[in-house]
Amino acid sequence: MPATSDDFVSLSKTGSRKLPTPPQQKNHGNFIVSLGAMCAWLAPKAEALGVDLFPGFAAADLSYDDDGAVQGVIIGDMGVDREGKEKDNYVQGIEIRAPITVLGEGARGHLTKRAIKKYDLAADADPQTYGIGMKELWKLPAGRVKPGHIQHTIGWPLPSEIYGGSFVYHMDKDRVAVGFVCALDYKDPDFSPFEAFQQFKHHPMMRELLEGGEILSAGARAIVEGGYQSLPKVEMPGAILIGDSAGLLNVPKIKGTHQAMKSGMLAAEQIVESKSSQGFDARLRNSDIMAELKKVRNIRPGFHKGLWRGIITAGIETATAGKLPRTLSNHADYQQYRKRNGHRFDYEFVDRDLPPRDRLASVYFASTEHDENQPIHLKIVEPDVCFTRCEEEYGNPCTRFCPASVYEKVEDEGGKRIQVNAANCVHCKTCDIADPYQVIEWVTPEGGSGPNYINL
Ligand SMILES: Cc1cc2nc3c(=O)[nH]c(=O)nc-3n(C[C@H](O)[C@H](O)[C@H](O)COP(=O)(O)OP(=O)(O)OC[C@H]3O[C@@H](n4cnc5c(N)ncnc54)[C@H](O)[C@@H]3O)c2cc1C
Repeated sequence: MPATSDDFVSLSKTGSRKLPTPPQQKNHGNFIVSLGAMCAWLAPKAEALGVDLFPGFAAADLSYDDDGAVQGVIIGDMGVDREGKEKDNYVQGIEIRAPITVLGEGARGHLTKRAIKKYDLAADADPQTYGIGMKELWKLPAGRVKPGHIQHTIGWPLPSEIYGGSFVYHMDKDRVAVGFVCALDYKDPDFSPFEAFQQFKHHPMMRELLEGGEILSAGARAIVEGGYQSLPKVEMPGAILIGDSAGLLNVPKIKGTHQAMKSGMLAAEQIVESKSSQGFDARLRNSDIMAELKKVRNIRPGFHKGLWRGIITAGIETATAGKLPRTLSNHADYQQYRKRNGHRFDYEFVDRDLPPRDRLASVYFASTEHDENQPIHLKIVEPDVCFTRCEEEYGNPCTRFCPASVYEKVEDEGGKRIQVNAANCVHCKTCDIADPYQVIEWVTPEGGSGPNYINL
C-alpha cells in the first residue's frame, strides 16, 4: 500500500506535540508492506529462476577448506535431544559448499559473529551497536485506521537518555502495525524495553487508537544501528557479508530492507564478475549504499548525550548532508550499564490494561515453536557469573531485556539459577548483544524452530 502521509510527534506523559517530520522519516514514494508476506511472494519467483531454497534448515556452522577459507555452511543436525543424544528421527546435517558464501543472516548473525571474530573483520571499525525493535499487528474497530498514514514518535515513555521511539503504520483491512525501537546502550540495568513499548501504547493518543482492538501477531528483533563507522570488513576468504549482517541499516530512517536488497545485488555482481570474495569490501565501500550511510553517520552517536542534543546534531548533519569533517564514535552497548546501586531513572510509568498482559502473553502472538526436547540454543557459557557478579552488580538484566521471558531467576533446593526457557525465544538476539558480561551465546536451534511472523 502506498504511504500517503507522515506525522512526527513528541510525547510527554499525557501530551503530544507535532514536530516537523525529519527528511529521513518522510515516506512519500514508499510502500507499506509486510516483509513476511513479501518474502513468501518472492520465494516461488526465485525458485522459478533456478534458485534452490532450503526453508526449515538452519546453517549451524561455517565449513572451511584446508587453507582456512570458508567453503560453505554446515546445516545443523535434526532430531537431537536435550542431552545431545540422537532421537529416532535423527538426520545428520549436510554440508552445503559454494565457491562464495554470502552471509545474510540479519542483525547479529550467528555465523557472521564467528566469521567476524575468526578473520578479525572488525579490527578497524567502531564497535557495532544495536537496538531492539518490537512490533505488534493490531486489528481495530472499523473506521479508525487511515490507510497509508505513518506516524513516528519520540519522547515518553523513554527518558531523554535512551535513544528510541515508535512507529505506527496504518494499513488496509482496519489494521495498524505498532512498533517501538529502543537502543540497547541504555545505562539502567533495571530498564525493560518491552515494558517501555507497552507503556507507549497507553499514552492517551495511542490508547484512543488501540482501545477495543485486538492483536493479530507480534514479534521482536534486533536492529543494527552502528552504520558507517561500525562497518566491519565485509569480505573474507571464500565469503562476504550483506544486509544487516554487515550492518547496513540506515538508522535515522529505521530502514534496512533497501540496503539489504542493494547489497545482495552488489554481491551478485561481484560473484558474476570476479568469482571471488576479494574486492567486495572495496565495491561496497564505493557504492551508494555506503554513501547513504556516510551522510547520516553522526546522527545515532549524536544521541549519546541525550535526546535534545541528539536532535540538534541530527539537524546539523541533515543540513550539511554529513559533509562536516568529523565522525562521532559508536560504543559497545553492553559496556554502557551503570552498576545497580547508581543512578536510576524515573520512568513515570502508568498502570496498563491493553493486551498483551505480559511478555508470555506476547510470545503467544509470535507463534514461536521449538521442540522442547532439543539442545538449548541459548547458552550461558559462564553460568557462575550470574550469581557471583551479575546479580549484585546489575541485578541480572537478562530477566528484563529479553522480550520473551526466556531468562527466569529460580531459587529451589539446588540454589539459585537462571532458568533458560528457550522454547519462548523469538530469535531477537537481544541477549547475545546486551548481556553485560557477554556470556550468553545465541546459536541456531533445530531448523524450522522459531517465531512464525504472520504479516509482520
Ligand atoms: C521492528 C522493526 C521494524 C523495522 N522497520 C523497517 C521498515 O519499516 N523499513 C525497512 O526498510 N526496514 C525496517 N526494519 C529493518 C529491516 O527489517 C532489516 O534491515 C532487513 O530485514 C534486513 O534484511 P536482511 O536480509 O539483511 O536480514 P533479515 O531480514 O533479518 O533476514 C535474515 C534471514 O536469515 C535467517 N537466518 C539467520 N541466521 C540463519 C542461519 N544461520 N541459518 C539459516 N537462516 C538464518 C533469518 O531467520 C532471517 O529470515 C525494521 C526492523 C525491525 C526490527
